[in-house]
Amino acid sequence: MLNDEEVLNTIGLQKSQQVITQMVKIASREYDCNSGEILEGHTDYLNLCYCCLSITTNLDNGLCNSCRS
Ligand SMILES: [Zn+2]
Repeated sequence: MLNDEEVLNTIGLQKSQQVITQMVKIASREYDCNSGEILEGHTDYLNLCYCCLSITTNLDNGLCNSCRS
C-alpha cells in the first residue's frame, strides 16, 4: 500500500511520520484496516510502532518497547 521512501526523502522523516500516522488512523477507522498490514515493512525506516503508532527507534519487529511487554 505504501511506497514512501521517495516521499520520505522529499518531505522528510518527521512529516512522513505525521502523514502516515494520520493515514493509518483514518484507514483503521473508516475502512476497518489493520495498521500492522498497512505499516508492514515500513516501520523500520519510519521509526513507527505499528501497534500504537508511537514514534520510536526502539523497535523490534515493528513493535515499540511498551507494545512488546
Ligand atoms: Zn507501540
